[in-house]
Amino acid sequence: MIFVSRFRCSVCNFIYEEEKEGKNFTDLPNSWTCSVCGALKTAFLLEGFSKGDEGIEKNVTERISNKKLIRKK
Ligand SMILES: [Zn+2]
Repeated sequence: MIFVSRFRCSVCNFIYEEEKEGKNFTDLPNSWTCSVCGALKTAFLLEGFSKGDEGIEKNVTERISNKKLIRKK
């Protein structure tokens, strides 16, 4: 399972995704602040995010589309 690190701003709940931003949160300078509310790096909390969760979302989407097909019949 691949884990992607996410950091959540404890002030405005902005999510910093390392994969999306292309830079490790720990590599950001200490002067870096939240792009939404301007909170300091220390206000951010580490959250784990697994790529396996996307599979669950796809299954839900498939179930919904199946229901739509039944309704059409
Ligand atoms: Zn923020």
